[in-house]
Amino acid sequence: MWESDPFRLRDPARAEKLSRALAQLAPKRPVKIVHVCGTHEAAIAESGLRALLPKRVEIYEGPGCPVCVTSTADINLAVKLALEVGVILCTFGDMLRVPGTELTLEEAKAEGADVRVVLSAADAVRTARENPHREVVFFAVGFETTAPGTAAVLLDRPPDNFSVLCSHKLIPPALEALLRENTEVDGFLAPGHVSTVIGADAYQELADKFHVPVVVGGFEPLDILYAIALVLKQLREGRAEVENAYPRAVRPGGNARAKELMDEAFQVMDASWRGIGTIPASGLGIRAELSRFDARKRFAIQAAPGEEEPPGCLCPDVIMAKAVPTDCPLFGTACTPLSPVGPCMVGTEGACSIWYRYGERPRL
Ligand code: SF4
Repeated sequence: MWESDPFRLRDPARAEKLSRALAQLAPKRPVKIVHVCGTHEAAIAESGLRALLPKRVEIYEGPGCPVCVTSTADINLAVKLALEVGVILCTFGDMLRVPGTELTLEEAKAEGADVRVVLSAADAVRTARENPHREVVFFAVGFETTAPGTAAVLLDRPPDNFSVLCSHKLIPPALEALLRENTEVDGFLAPGHVSTVIGADAYQELADKFHVPVVVGGFEPLDILYAIALVLKQLREGRAEVENAYPRAVRPGGNARAKELMDEAFQVMDASWRGIGTIPASGLGIRAELSRFDARKRFAIQAAPGEEEPPGCLCPDVIMAKAVPTDCPLFGTACTPLSPVGPCMVGTEGACSIWYRYGERPRL
């Protein structure tokens, strides 16, 4: 029974104990810890974990929502492929409502474009096999968690009518960009699922270069509190190391096969992040050997770079951990999940959308 045998990672008594430990470990000064993962933010908000933190410890969501950081130019390109070129455009559901310069993919669909929601790259390949006389483009977004799936289908001889509009991005370069831009960051809670692929060791260079603690955390409430406790302990002791607080899923070297697949299919390149700008070596492009499946090459079209953010939207500051959603005057008024103004309100992993869902500032 839940009451008499609570799941160990949701045990309120343990949470209480960890909360007391956090109060003892927290330095006397204000501390800003940044995670880069919508799943972390949702778990923190859903369980009211901010209420268990010392008041001087703040947790921000950085650039961890793949939908929010997909560039306007790539959305414009996807809209153009669907609406003007007439391909079947397959992508994840959250991408449909992200504003482009003129249209979202959902609006393009309403104007007659064939835009379909898929759960994986493999689903898009299936759509291509079922529609041999149509061009099918998979709009691939996401970090190192979804990139191996795209790599796997590219390397598995997809049908000739299949191609990929690749907009995959890498987390470690984004953390570095954030540290260069935001000097107030004291430590990182590194994303559990990205880390299952890249491994905890992937953050070592960052920790050494910027002398910042990085702790890989899982997604259960106690996982998160424990990881925050390790960050605070490092700060108190003046250490800046990589620690793995999620060893049941994350290995030091990550998932060798998934990394191999990414290496075979992709090359690292500069990428444009919405709200941030171009970050060197932070994106994945399709290797020349597979260029016949690269939608950017197959359909030689250009799309407008576009306005990155609508007026008044604080998404760039939210994404760079300089603001929280409620700092934005449009939050909950002009901007809601039903009529989002900026990308952080669109995706289920966007900070604004999560804060709206759980009742504004989720610090009970
Ligand atoms: S509330 Fe809306 S407009 Fe404001 S930062 Fe968030 S997404 Fe942008």
